[in-house]
Amino acid sequence: MAVLCSGGDAPGMNAFLRAVVRLGLNRHHRPVYGIRDGYRGLVRAARQVGGDGEALIGLCQDIERQVGNRGLIDAQQCIIQMDHASVSGIMGKGGTILGSARCLEFHKPQVRREVIDLLEKLQIGGLIVCGGDGSLSGARLLAQESNLRIIGVPATIDNDLQFTEMSLGVDTAVHTLVWAVDHFIDTARSHRRVMVLETMGRESGDLARMAALASGAEMVITPESGPMTEPRMRELAQRIEGAMTRGRGHAIVLIAEGVKFEPAQNRNGAYVLRDAFQSYFGREGAPFPDLEVRPSVLGHLQRGGHATPGDCILAARFAEEAWKSLLDPQAKSGITALRYNKVEIVPFGCEDLPERAVHSRAMDTLHDDLANW
Ligand code: ADP
Repeated sequence: MAVLCSGGDAPGMNAFLRAVVRLGLNRHHRPVYGIRDGYRGLVRAARQVGGDGEALIGLCQDIERQVGNRGLIDAQQCIIQMDHASVSGIMGKGGTILGSARCLEFHKPQVRREVIDLLEKLQIGGLIVCGGDGSLSGARLLAQESNLRIIGVPATIDNDLQFTEMSLGVDTAVHTLVWAVDHFIDTARSHRRVMVLETMGRESGDLARMAALASGAEMVITPESGPMTEPRMRELAQRIEGAMTRGRGHAIVLIAEGVKFEPAQNRNGAYVLRDAFQSYFGREGAPFPDLEVRPSVLGHLQRGGHATPGDCILAARFAEEAWKSLLDPQAKSGITALRYNKVEIVPFGCEDLPERAVHSRAMDTLHDDLANW
């Protein structure tokens, strides 16, 4: 069995690798191969071997000679036989010890064919792909195009995968955002300011809305609530001004990066919102003409850092389910998912979980009703 991390890194990937390796070695007595740099590592190894039998023997010798940390240290080695020591002390560490990458070539069927041939030659019958939406699309194609058993594991701080309630990394990213709001709020309070903080999340507002609910941020703007127009921005500014009139001193506004504007904007949403709010607060005869709005784009700060216990536990549960499925001859390739607080495998092609949208709307209402307007 082989495992790789692909696409954007997420906290919890290392905890997952540790769990997969330890379960493989301790519980199932199976060797586990780590693939460096996601699909790119597989493509590189496939190219190295090509149709050449001697090159294949050379690759196998390298893998056997440089096991665990020795293989990991050698940046040229794409496939590493993992041992206990190679996953020691990595549980909470952000990022991934195997490295992650984007590999455009993997979109080509011919390149995937080369990778499938390589895995078959190495007698690797199962592949676990830990990553986000794109990585799992690649995994789905590999499952369709081969007899390999493929298990996808959702890992992305965006929580934009509809088939699972939580992906690896989300809990940690929410935790980081709550920490960030706690820091921004000090200045917001002291200077009586409005802070507009832009979160990641791609097309999804889940990260922003979870962070708003957990931090008590006054306002959250998500892509699901529709495009931002001039009248909508005015309405939000009016709401903040109204709260200020009733004695409130500051406001924290979270805006998800996926929010679209009408007309379209080529700047970050936090800056567009700052300008709209600032011009509203500064209008002729406004009650708080000195009210300042400060934007901040939080960026990759959200992707790193020590994984929370919640993510480490979810990683272990995903790893256990992945192994269970891989070793069951009747099971199908699919993706580990958290549904109704149970971990299960969702076969590729059956990923819909319509309740997710309902759940998100309910969270928005809950947040709104808890805010102090
Ligand atoms: P994430 O997994 O974090 O969403 P990307 O969308 O960049 O990140 O995808 C990571 C990698 O997965 C891509 O660089 C590519 O190698 C592979 N991938 C993404 N989409 C596809 C696809 N439709 N077909 C094949 N491979 C894909």
